[in-house]
Amino acid sequence: MNEKTTIPFAPKQKTNMKKPDERLTKKREKRTSESARLRYWVQWVVFTVTIGIGIQFFIYVHQAFLDGPIRVMRPPAVEGFLPIGALMGWKLFLLTGIWDAVHPAAMVILGYAGFASLMLRKSFCGWFCPVGTVSERLWKLGRRFLGDNFIVPFWLDIPLRSLKYLLLGFFAWVILKMPTEAIHAFLQSPYYRISDVKMLFFFTRMSMTTAVVLTILVLLSLPIRNFWCRYLCPYGALMGLLALVGPTRIVRNSQICIDCERCAKACPYHLPVDKKECVLSPECNGCMDCTLACPVNKTLEMKTKGMGKRVWSLAKLGTLLVIVFVGLVYTARITGHWKSSVTDQEFRMRLKEVDSPHYVHPGIKRK
Ligand code: SF4
Ligand code: SF4
Repeated sequence: MNEKTTIPFAPKQKTNMKKPDERLTKKREKRTSESARLRYWVQWVVFTVTIGIGIQFFIYVHQAFLDGPIRVMRPPAVEGFLPIGALMGWKLFLLTGIWDAVHPAAMVILGYAGFASLMLRKSFCGWFCPVGTVSERLWKLGRRFLGDNFIVPFWLDIPLRSLKYLLLGFFAWVILKMPTEAIHAFLQSPYYRISDVKMLFFFTRMSMTTAVVLTILVLLSLPIRNFWCRYLCPYGALMGLLALVGPTRIVRNSQICIDCERCAKACPYHLPVDKKECVLSPECNGCMDCTLACPVNKTLEMKTKGMGKRVWSLAKLGTLLVIVFVGLVYTARITGHWKSSVTDQEFRMRLKEVDSPHYVHPGIKRK
């Protein structure tokens, strides 16, 4: 919360800035662009796979609507877009040991995101989240066309940033006050058993209001860096809070720092990296753009408490994130914690009556 107050587009004033060694800077810049590509690759692979999963699910639902055979498999990873159900599932599991068999992949994905963010900053957001990938491309596109991104003034930035915590607080409050019996009943309800279809309809049967809201979000994401992630995403808010208590952080060696401010300029969240000994902000998504931008060797590094002097490189971080994810999904699959218990026959039967009042959200039904 203690980020700098900045005037939009205003150049920074600094009097005692030392110059980086040009030769070393060039070398590091070459290494930087090579390393930075790794994160983009991970982001794009995850994004492409997500689109592929969405298309496969669309085909599955389409075939289930018809009376012929269903030729594609329902992709469990589509449940990654059901985080509220996954949170409920985790509460039920932690308090009773019951694993939600209806949308188990949702729990695996949320569990991975939480663990990765707890251990390695909000790295799920910076490396995996497809919405984060789109957000990042949008502000970079905006910067290309507008010349720079707009920095929201401090007095407006703080209240806007609290929105995502309010949203998270609301969901957390609803889930925390729900008794485990009520959670169990919700996770077994007709609505939840087919909530992945409801989520698909959010896009394929988009209302005018949804279309307008999405368009506004896209437009705001062009001039403002990570508009959705920074101000509105409750999922990111939860990951940020986990990262806040985690052991990994960006550490600056102020003894050899030359105050060039490149790190702060590179940070997608405008964090004052050049002023801190240690970046602890819940906004830090572990992208490591700041360490890559730093022209002085061993000045800005990502380190984990308890791991001595070991430093995270982008390659190590990316490799570990991918290996843990693949390993977790594989383990969940072979132990029966990944695939939904909803069979093709049940899915087809429920799909035919999906628009009936029987499939309205239980919370809405009660009102
Ligand atoms: S640039 Fe550095 S401080 Fe900023 S979000 Fe990325 S890792 Fe965190
Ligand atoms: S830590 Fe930041 S301000 Fe210091 S030398 Fe590196 S990029 Fe420049």
